[in-house]
Amino acid sequence: MTAPTYDLGKLHGGLRLPGHKDDSTRVPVRDVPIPAQLVLPIEQHAGEPAQPVVDIGDRVLKGQPVAEPDGEMGVPVHASSSGTVVAIERWPVSRRQGGKAPCIVIECDGDDETFPGRSAGDYRNVPPADLLLHILDGGIVGLGGAVFPTAQKLMQARTSETECLILNGVECEPYISCDDMLMRERAPEILGGARVLMHALQVDSCFVVVESDKPEAIDRLEEALGEFGDDRIVLKQVPTIYPSGGEDQLVQLVIDREVPSGGLPTDIGCIVQNVGTAAAVYDWIVRGEPLISRVTTVTGDGVANPVNVRARIGTTIEDIVRFTGGYTDCADHLIVGGPLTGKSVTTDEVPVVKASNCILVVARSSYSLGELPCIRCGDCAAVCPVQLLPQQLFWYACADDEQKLRDFGLTDCIECGCCDLVCPSHIPLTADFRKAKGRIRELADEKARADRARKRFEARNDRLERERLERDAELARQKETAKSAGAQAIAEILERRRRRDEDEPS
Ligand code: SF4
Ligand code: SF4
Repeated sequence: MTAPTYDLGKLHGGLRLPGHKDDSTRVPVRDVPIPAQLVLPIEQHAGEPAQPVVDIGDRVLKGQPVAEPDGEMGVPVHASSSGTVVAIERWPVSRRQGGKAPCIVIECDGDDETFPGRSAGDYRNVPPADLLLHILDGGIVGLGGAVFPTAQKLMQARTSETECLILNGVECEPYISCDDMLMRERAPEILGGARVLMHALQVDSCFVVVESDKPEAIDRLEEALGEFGDDRIVLKQVPTIYPSGGEDQLVQLVIDREVPSGGLPTDIGCIVQNVGTAAAVYDWIVRGEPLISRVTTVTGDGVANPVNVRARIGTTIEDIVRFTGGYTDCADHLIVGGPLTGKSVTTDEVPVVKASNCILVVARSSYSLGELPCIRCGDCAAVCPVQLLPQQLFWYACADDEQKLRDFGLTDCIECGCCDLVCPSHIPLTADFRKAKGRIRELADEKARADRARKRFEARNDRLERERLERDAELARQKETAKSAGAQAIAEILERRRRRDEDEPS
């Protein structure tokens, strides 16, 4: 099969932002030691939370499933070191801003004893459908931040006419450098994962996409490609513009096709996976290690030594920052993720999860200008990569006009924060859009609930009416039967009487 060819596209809007990545990429990735305690949220992916399959007091091994998927979009959670389950309780997590979620707490024994792995064998001999199930067992999710279950995403792609895989190494948000370091240090594993994914998808074309200002990552990937000698995989460089690493924006850049509003890249023939996801697929399918650790960037003016670390899932931010050298005196607040799309957390007790690509500790800022009225300058529209009109959306968000928000494409907003950055009036547009989207989702959920209740009510009424009609029909049938039985009995009596009259001598 010949690999398809594509023209390079162009990103609408976007911003060239200062990277702030040099500090965290000066030294190799450091391994965080096994902590005293691991906190494993059962909800670390986009989908139904997993269900615990261990009890308090159970001894668990590294790589052992401790929570199993529940529902179509479920993904298992594995212990990331050996130890004893000491609690299953609600714990602060980064996914729920300021909130808690159920977690399995393991007291580590330090032995790091490994659960017997279940390698898929030589994946090239495994039927693609079986390989997808195996990927699911490894707890693999998209490590670019969306944590969409990888097996389900691949299944969707297999049912569409997908012809190419795009590996996303475009890490365009300031401060985050974990993918850059992963590409520098584990390029062969990333490309090995790409081959597994290509086999699972049955496609013959893969683009590994990197920003052109990442020369070391590009060199390592080129070296690995040279060793692989696999001409189905092509390295593509793109300019460093935020948010070119967004899934739809990357597709536009790489194959010059636009993902339709409300659609998916598979609608136009491709699927995007993060480079970290590809390495995780390799680690599980080839080496038998499920997704129990990840590289995360520890950075910002609030930490003494910015660096990238490989931490076990479930290690708390407190343990990680202490390992890297602690906080600075000016540390003010904590963000899990990047400065534009990350989530603020109020405690460093939150654990690193599969989605945690960055721990950003922000220093105190001396003043804030505060929000001013919109002056209709249009700068926000000029930078919006989705070609929305943020100033209009802002008005409609203030007015709570759900219909207009929909008409003006709020649901297509990728919450990249570009509009905030350029707004001279310092209006927190993205936060307003996030809230408005939440409200629309709530309304949609409410409507879906009301629709379901209405349908249940209608179905019940239909059933009662059907039963009433059936009862009436049965009654009528019984009456009819009784009537004809009565008529028959009378006829028989009359007949008997006629015969008796005939038999009697006159
Ligand atoms: S950038 Fe800010 S001030 Fe300018 S139009 Fe947009 S919302 Fe208004
Ligand atoms: S946050 Fe939304 S509206 Fe603002 S620039 Fe990004 S995509 Fe456009």
